[in-house]
Amino acid sequence: MTISATAPYTPDQFTDATWEDILPLYEALVAQPLDPGDTEGIEAWLDEWSALVAALGEAASLANVNASCDTTDPVKEEAYIRFSGQIRPRADEQTVRLAKKLIETGYTRPDLESTIRRFRTDQDLFRPENVQLEQDLQTLNAEYNKITGGMTVNWRGEEIPIPRLSPFLLDPERATREEAWRLQFKPYIDQRDEIATVFDQQLEKRQRLARNAGFENYRDYTFESKYRYDYTPDDCETFHASVEQTFVPAIARRYEKRKQEMGVDSLRPWDTSHDPLGLPPLTPYESVEEWNSKSEAIFRRVDPAFGDYFATMRKEHLLDLESRKGKRPGGFCTSFPYRKRPFIFMNASGVGSDVRTLLHEAGHAFHGFESSKLPFIYQRQYGSEMAEVASMAMELLSSPYLKTEMGGFYEQADFIRARTEHLDGILEIFAWVATVDSFQHWLYTDAAASDRDARDAKWLTVWERFNPGVDWFGLETERTARWYKQLHLFLYPFYYIEYAIAQLGALQVWRNSLADQSKATADYRAALALGGSKPLPELFDRAGARLIFDAAGMAELVTLIETELGKLEQPAA
Ligand SMILES: [Zn+2]
Repeated sequence: MTISATAPYTPDQFTDATWEDILPLYEALVAQPLDPGDTEGIEAWLDEWSALVAALGEAASLANVNASCDTTDPVKEEAYIRFSGQIRPRADEQTVRLAKKLIETGYTRPDLESTIRRFRTDQDLFRPENVQLEQDLQTLNAEYNKITGGMTVNWRGEEIPIPRLSPFLLDPERATREEAWRLQFKPYIDQRDEIATVFDQQLEKRQRLARNAGFENYRDYTFESKYRYDYTPDDCETFHASVEQTFVPAIARRYEKRKQEMGVDSLRPWDTSHDPLGLPPLTPYESVEEWNSKSEAIFRRVDPAFGDYFATMRKEHLLDLESRKGKRPGGFCTSFPYRKRPFIFMNASGVGSDVRTLLHEAGHAFHGFESSKLPFIYQRQYGSEMAEVASMAMELLSSPYLKTEMGGFYEQADFIRARTEHLDGILEIFAWVATVDSFQHWLYTDAAASDRDARDAKWLTVWERFNPGVDWFGLETERTARWYKQLHLFLYPFYYIEYAIAQLGALQVWRNSLADQSKATADYRAALALGGSKPLPELFDRAGARLIFDAAGMAELVTLIETELGKLEQPAA
C-alpha cells in the first residue's frame, strides 16, 4: 500500500500499514533540508513531523484499545502486536534521527526547551554497544515475567493463580486472611534462587550499560535517562529520611488505632488491609449509567470545565468501563493524539475501588484535554511526576463530593469509610516507596549487592527502618520474599519515587482547595495546560505546589491528613 508522503496524515491511513509503508514518510522528513536561519521552515517541518506522529500514534492507540476490549479476536491481536512489537520500536529509532536533525539546526523556543533538552539527553546517552545490552535486558525482564506469571498456589485443593487470592486477603475471617497471606509468598520462596539468578544478570548488565555511557553506576545513569534534571540521588536520600521522620510515625499511630478497633494484641501483616469492623466491600453504584452520571456531576462541582470534558468523553464513546467477557484486566487512560482526545479503559465490577480508579484516570484524561492545545506533540509528553499529580489531585479534589447529598455515591457511614481508606492508603504508600527506593539506591551503589544473601539481609534492614507497627514475628522468610514480588525492582528500576513526589504535589493542590477551591483548581488546570513544556519545578509552581523532599514540608501534609481523618472519625454529635 502507498501512503502519500505529505501531510495531512490520518490514523486510517495506518490501520493496516506495515513498517515498510511507514518508513518512507520518516525518510522524507529526514531528507528535507533545514536552514538554521529559516525559523518558519523549521517550524513547518516540526508541524509535519508532529502530524505524522499524531496520526500514527492514534492508529497505535486504537489497536491497543481494540485488542484490550476484545482479546478473543485474532485480527485485533495481530494489529496490536504489529504496532507495539514492530512499528513502535522502529518509529522510536526514527524519532532519534529527527531529533538529531533538529538539534543540529540550533533552533529553540522557550516552550520547546524542555523537549529539546530531553532529545539532547537521548543523544548524549546513546552508545551503539548498549543496543545489544538493552535487548539482553528485555530478555531478562521477560524471564522474570515468565517465572512469576506462571506461578500458582494450591488454595484449599484448587490450583489458582496468585491474584485470585486477593478477595481472601480481605476476608473478615482472620484465619482465612492469614492462610491466603502466607500462601501468596510460597512460590516466591520456592523459586527464590531462580529469581535471584535473573537479578544477578540484570544487575551486572545494567551496571555495564551505565559504565559504557560514562557513569559510575546504573543509579546515576538512570537519573539522567529518566530526565530527572530537577532532583538528585541525594535529594532522594533526604526524602527517605523525611519519610522516616514524618509518615512512619503517623502510620504507626494509625496501626495502633486499628489494633484497638480490631481488639487484638498485635497487628499481623494480614490485618492491615481488610475492613477493621468486618464490613463487606462498598457497592457504590448499580449501573454504569448511574456511575457515569454521578461522576460527571462530581467533576462539574470540582470545576465546570471538568464536567464538560467528561460529558464529551461520554458523548464521543471515549469510555469503556464495564467488565465483559474477553476484556483485558486492569485500567488505563490512553490518548488519541490526532483528534486530541483521551480514552479510559477499565474492567469494573461495581465496587468502591472502581469509583476511585475512574476519578484517578479522569485526572489523566483532563491532563490530555488541557495540554492538547500545545502545537508540537512532544510538548504534550510529560514525566510521571506531573502525570500523577493530575490524577492523584483529581481523587482528592473530588473527595468532598462523594456524598449522596452532593450528588455522589455514599451515605454518611460509607462516605467516611471510603475517605478513610483513601487517606490511610496515601499515608502507607510513602513508607513503601521509601522502602523500595532506598533499597534500590543501595543495590546499584554497593558492590556487596552482587551477593544474593547480602541483598536479602539488606532488604530486612531497610524494611525495619520504614515499616512500624506490624508484628512480623516468625515471618522472616515471607518478609524476605516480599522484595522478589515487587516487580518494579526487576522490570522498572528506579520507577517508583515519582509516585510519592507526585502525591506530595497532589496533597498541596488539595490543601489549597480547602482554602479556596476555585483558585486551586484554576492553578491546577493552568499547570496541566503546560503539558511537558516547562521544567518540573515550574509545573509544580504553576499548580500552587513545590517539590518536597524535606521533613518540614512533609510534616505539614501529614498533619493535614491526620486532621482530616480525625474529623471523619469524630463520633456524630
Ligand atoms: Zn496514574
